[in-house]
Amino acid sequence: MSNGDVELPAAGHVVIVGAGHAGGSAAAFLRNSGFSGQITLIGDEPLAPYQRPPLSKAWLKGEANGESLQLRPAHFYAEHDVSLRLCTQALAIDRQRRLVHVADGQSVPYDRLVLATGARARKAPFAGASLPAVLELRTAADAERLKVALRPGAKVIIVGGGYVGLEVAASARTLQAEVVVIEREARLLARVACPELSSFFLGYHRQRGVAFRLGRSVTAVVDAGKPASTVYLDDGERLTADLVLVGVGAVPNQELALAAGLPCDDGVLVDLMAQTEDPHIYAIGDCTRRPMPLYGCRWRLESVPNALEQAKQAAASICAKPAPAPETPWFWSDQFDLKLQIAGLPIDVAEVVVRGNPDKDRFAVFHVSAERRIQAVEAVNSPPDFVMGRQLIGSRKQVDLERLRNAAVSIKEIAI
Ligand code: FAD
Repeated sequence: MSNGDVELPAAGHVVIVGAGHAGGSAAAFLRNSGFSGQITLIGDEPLAPYQRPPLSKAWLKGEANGESLQLRPAHFYAEHDVSLRLCTQALAIDRQRRLVHVADGQSVPYDRLVLATGARARKAPFAGASLPAVLELRTAADAERLKVALRPGAKVIIVGGGYVGLEVAASARTLQAEVVVIEREARLLARVACPELSSFFLGYHRQRGVAFRLGRSVTAVVDAGKPASTVYLDDGERLTADLVLVGVGAVPNQELALAAGLPCDDGVLVDLMAQTEDPHIYAIGDCTRRPMPLYGCRWRLESVPNALEQAKQAAASICAKPAPAPETPWFWSDQFDLKLQIAGLPIDVAEVVVRGNPDKDRFAVFHVSAERRIQAVEAVNSPPDFVMGRQLIGSRKQVDLERLRNAAVSIKEIAI
């Protein structure tokens, strides 16, 4: 994938498909970078770009709504001459004629196309998954359905002990619902966090009344008549539920790109400027699989910082500006009063160092390479460890493991 030697006409038209965090930010970065041509932002949801992270927390507790979650105020789009077309789905891309066909029958011409189609909740693999009591959480509309059902005393079954499942479990307990989390793997957060973190979060949630079934799968949900359903597990256990939330991961919305013949592999393949194989087409955010130069691999990141970074890359490339400085990937998750911050990826790890005290709810797990370089850090209620760990991942400096292990030594003094 080259950085396209194709000049964008001065009054060119950038069409962005997907009005989420990445798409909305790309429109703003284009204007910040001095792009003066036409921008059209096409989104299939009824809301202008908004933040999804609060959907599993503040929204459920009634502390956020469609307006407070907006990425930018409603007047931003008109003021910056961004044509916002909501409730409109892009159906197909004609790469030869550079057109996007949309559901209202129109075809929108583009000079540059940015695919920012995000991801969707993975469907539940059990019988009864389409019953009204079985919910998922990706959009504000999903969050509203969940919020209405989360009454004090409600019996809530959460399928999946990943970030979304655990965040909803914490919110539901705070709202005095009864919560059981069913996780297929033997530990929580199995795909995304280390075993030390899994046990910590298990204990923390249990102390606050969340029940767990680890190593168990749901085989079926049966509507047992109003108001409850019966959830069947693979070991024969039956649980009663007023609602079942499925949080078993997300799949990238890559179908538009695939149908247009763009290479995809669980995400649209892009380079470090978010460009696809076609020099006229970019892809950004959750729908992409991108190079990770620090780790010598490609990865599909599902995070707000990644959506922002790739939106900057695409805007810079479209405006023929220098590439933005590479960023170390990071992510956060808020559960009860815990703030988990993660930077880097635990790849090529020779040693795991725990710094601080999990019993005091404040610690960090550092993943260190054989060359004593930090590859990743997972910090619970410990922002200095996160900040310094993230810096050290980016700088590739070696660290002294003894000093790293000793929480009495300042984190600023661990680099050699
Ligand atoms: P999205 O925000 O999904 O936006 C894509 C948009 O494109 C959607 O509106 C979609 O409907 C639309 N679209 C798709 N196809 C089409 C089409 N053909 N035509 C028109 N429109 C289309 N990240 C963090 O970093 N920290 C967190 O704590 C965190 N918490 C989260 C909690 C929840 C409940 C969820 C769901 C996500 C959370 N995330 C978190 C992830 C974060 O929200 C995503 O990484 C981010 O939203 C990605 O932005 P995006 O623009 O790529 O995708």
